[in-house]
Order: sequence, then C-alpha cells, then structure tokens
Amino acid sequence: MIIKNGLVYYKGKIVKRDIEIEGNKIVKIGKNLEGESYNAEKKLILPGLVNTHTHLAMTLLRGYADDLPLNEWLEKYIWPVESKLKGEDVYYGSLLGIIEMIKSGTTCFNDMYFFMDKTANAVVKSGIRGVLNHGCIELFDSEKGEREIKESLKIMKICEKNERTSFMFGPHSPYTCSKGFLMKIKDLANKYQKYIHIHVSETKNEVENIEKEYKMKPMEYLKDFLDKNVLIAHAVHLTKSEIKILKEKNVKISHNPVSNLKLSSGIAPIPELLKNDILVSLGTDGTASNNSLNVFEDL
Ligand SMILES: [Zn+2]
Repeated sequence: MIIKNGLVYYKGKIVKRDIEIEGNKIVKIGKNLEGESYNAEKKLILPGLVNTHTHLAMTLLRGYADDLPLNEWLEKYIWPVESKLKGEDVYYGSLLGIIEMIKSGTTCFNDMYFFMDKTANAVVKSGIRGVLNHGCIELFDSEKGEREIKESLKIMKICEKNERTSFMFGPHSPYTCSKGFLMKIKDLANKYQKYIHIHVSETKNEVENIEKEYKMKPMEYLKDFLDKNVLIAHAVHLTKSEIKILKEKNVKISHNPVSNLKLSSGIAPIPELLKNDILVSLGTDGTASNNSLNVFEDL
C-alpha cells in the first residue's frame, strides 16, 4: 500500500512524499512510488497518537451526568450505572470508542475498566493497539482485593495472546485501594515486569482527605509505591516537594486537561513538571468526563 501525495516530516522539513507500507512497516519514503495507493493530497501524515488514559466503554455513558464535581459524578451517577453494565456492553462500548479514536488519529490507548477480556476482543477485531488494565477497586477489603488481583492476572494472560494487546496493572486510586493492596500490586508488577496505571491527586478534595487521614501529601504517602514503572493519571494538585518526589522516582504522568476542566478538578502544573524533566503524555479520560476521545482537542 502506498500513501501518495501527503505532507511528511522528512529529514528536518515538511515535504510532499509518498510512503510505501508493507504489512505494519514503512519500507520506503520517496517520490512517484507505484502500486495500490491512497491519495493523501492536502493531508499531513503523522505518527499515530497514543491516548494514555481512557475508560473506553464509557462511550456508552457519554453525557449521562454533566456539570458535576468528581465525587458526586462518580458516587451518585457513574458507579451505580456501571454496576449494571455487562460484558457485552463493554465490548460494544469499546468498539464504539475505538472507531472514534481511529477516526481522530489515535493508534494506541491505555485503558482501565472492567470486563477487559471484552475490550481485548474489540482491540483484536479493530486493528488498533491497546494497553489494557483491569481497574482494581479494592475498597479496603482484602477478599475483594484478592478477586481483583485474580482478574488482573487473567487479563494479563489474555493480553499475551495477541501482539496488539498488552497489559498494565490498574489499581484505581489511593482512595479506593489500601496501601497494602498497592504494595502487593507493585510486587506483582515487578515479578511480571509490567507497568502500573493509577489515578492520583485528581481533585483538591481527594488530596485533603489523604492529608486528613495520613498527615501527608499523596505523593509522600505513596513514596515507596512510586517508581519508574508507574503512570499517574491527572496529578492536578501537586506541591513543589511532591514534584521533587515524582522526579526522583522517575514517575510518568498522563495529563487529562479536558476531563480536569469538565469536572472542575483544576489545572495540572504541566510547565513545572516539564521543567523538572518529568515525562508527560496526554489522555482524554472516559467520554463521560470529556465527551470526546479526540486527543487533538486535549492538545
Ligand atoms: Zn480516569
């Protein structure tokens, strides 16, 4: 397949070139290439975007609860309706989300949800790449924690079956998972050499509750859990000393500006993070807290 007449960033300049693709590899960039082609006249050819924080099947809940702060949005509306979702809903919700992502240039996403075996099926069917995590909500109940770990390991095995699905552990947050549970997940992530994806410091209220409970800022509380294999979604409310911890531990951040503004969570200190050489990527979050999976809108 040849993508013809598109604009390409090539040897330091944006120029008009043809791109020849064999299988999943670019094999040639040149002029007047011959063969089966797609005309990309007046289009800019970019590498696929990576959306680093999604809850894909929430496409089914788009617009379900608007103009609410996170706590009320989650507890009164989202969690009750999510408890009614079935595997089949997650499959079709994921497919719908994947269509939206492919249409807006995303070729890989990092997704935390449940029934992730169904999301894996949607990934395999569509041609996109997905990093899938079972969202572990332990709720300080060790038996529930064991069930969440069992489900995570099941999804890990499923992800190994296809080259376009990979796995991360997904403990939901420090307010839905105990410290002991988080440390267990960290041990498992080390054992299986996997990354961890978690929501932290999304709202002011969450930070204040952790401070009240543990007399520490969230990143101080999580200090022994954090390392280079942890991806934090949001990180909106950070102090200078917390940013220092993130830098020391080489933690990665998924910045979700549209979601943070829709839920009135705040604005993450991105210039400060970048100044400290902390790796920041972009995520949309689920469509119920953004209304879109188009990363260009977050850009
Ligand atoms: Zn999220």
